[in-house]
Amino acid sequence: MKAKEIEQIDAAIERIENGQYGICIECGDWISPARLEALPYALRCKECQERLEKLGMA
Ligand SMILES: [Zn+2]
Repeated sequence: MKAKEIEQIDAAIERIENGQYGICIECGDWISPARLEALPYALRCKECQERLEKLGMA
């Protein structure tokens, strides 16, 4: 497992504890359940993730 993934999982656990799990950190919208199922530690919704990837920031 890559260090970046471990970091993301840690962040996801923290967000579960804060009650923020499943909410996009960029736009505050709910991340779709299908996306969370595929990527349980996703911090951003699909739209924000794609936007950042295009900018080379993720
Ligand atoms: Zn978003």
